[in-house]
Amino acid sequence: MLTWVEVDLGAISYNLNQIKNRVEPYGAKVLAVIKDNAYGHGAVDIARTASKVPVHMLGVATVEEAIELRQAGIDLPILILCCILPEQVGEVVKHDITQTVCDLSVCEALSNAAARMNKQAKVHVKVDTGMGRIGIQQDEAPGFVESVSQITHLTIEGIFTHFASAERDIAFTELQFERFKHALSRLGEIGIRIPLRHAANSSAILGFPASYSGSASSLSSIPINMVRSGIMTYGCYPVGPPKEIDLKPALSLKTRVVYLKKVPAGRGISYGHKYTTDKPTIIASLPIGYGYGYSRRLSNIGEAIIRGTRAPLIGAMCMDQCLCDVTHVPGVSIGDEAVLIGKQENEEITADEVAKKAGTISYEIFCSISARLPRIYIGG
Ligand SMILES: *Cc1c(COP(=O)(O)O)cnc(C)c1O
Repeated sequence: MLTWVEVDLGAISYNLNQIKNRVEPYGAKVLAVIKDNAYGHGAVDIARTASKVPVHMLGVATVEEAIELRQAGIDLPILILCCILPEQVGEVVKHDITQTVCDLSVCEALSNAAARMNKQAKVHVKVDTGMGRIGIQQDEAPGFVESVSQITHLTIEGIFTHFASAERDIAFTELQFERFKHALSRLGEIGIRIPLRHAANSSAILGFPASYSGSASSLSSIPINMVRSGIMTYGCYPVGPPKEIDLKPALSLKTRVVYLKKVPAGRGISYGHKYTTDKPTIIASLPIGYGYGYSRRLSNIGEAIIRGTRAPLIGAMCMDQCLCDVTHVPGVSIGDEAVLIGKQENEEITADEVAKKAGTISYEIFCSISARLPRIYIGG
């Protein structure tokens, strides 16, 4: 195996415990968001680790992701955070998955499927308070919940909203939170109290509870009792809020030097000769490229750590290979480990650094890492 992803499960437990310690004093539980193969970290292994912490619930994007977890023996509650179509309700009920709803026909289909299986379907109602994505508009939410509550084989276990800019726009986040609280209090007035109420993603967890709950002395007035932790689970911070919770990055992306050659100055390198050597250069070939999800936008700007030394990637990124200037790396040899994300000796390349160079966010760097690459788990 020449190129692989290493995931430190100890870091995942550490991060989830840090988040729990932060929110539990305020009566909030943690839902670990493990959609998209746990942000590329491997859903089943992350789910097992989260079950041991334990967290209260897992969040995924699709029915297929939820079923993968059930088939691996994960028995924590699982919430599908996205919409489904009525044709998918049978699988949802059969596998005891909790579904996000904002459409009556899906609720009715869930109830009918549950009736056939002698079960009760579980749902969380999604309220749109300003994200403009899925969700019932905040003004229509109380009426919608009232209608859903009358459907027989269905239980409303949760209600939630999602912040659009919790990492940078506190005023708008507070406005969204006010709208959500308003919908909850209107439900209270008609005698409907939903057990799980959640709003915060990672950015808002960093703001929790000061921005979203009033004073700590009025704990019972906090209407929120769960948070949804995505990127912080994996040890990265949302860009913006102060890094008040200590986290450890869990993922490393590693490969090995498979070939070395010395070329003179003035030699064009890789497709399109986007790099020309300016000195006699020792070039290492690394067996990784955009076909493994290491972005082509990192051509000429990415770096690898080899023998504890940073070495620049040169020339265009190929599909399965890239080239690295190792002229200055003492003793570089074929077979050496090269780290593209993660630590080696005293050097570290973070997912955030790679994201910045590629003009994106750590989320996309993680999700892009190909399923082709084996995941090696350590520290479990
Ligand atoms: C992905 C997602 C999250 C997690 O967001 P992070 O910023 O990674 O913490 C939370 N809630 C919903 C609805 C999501 O889709």
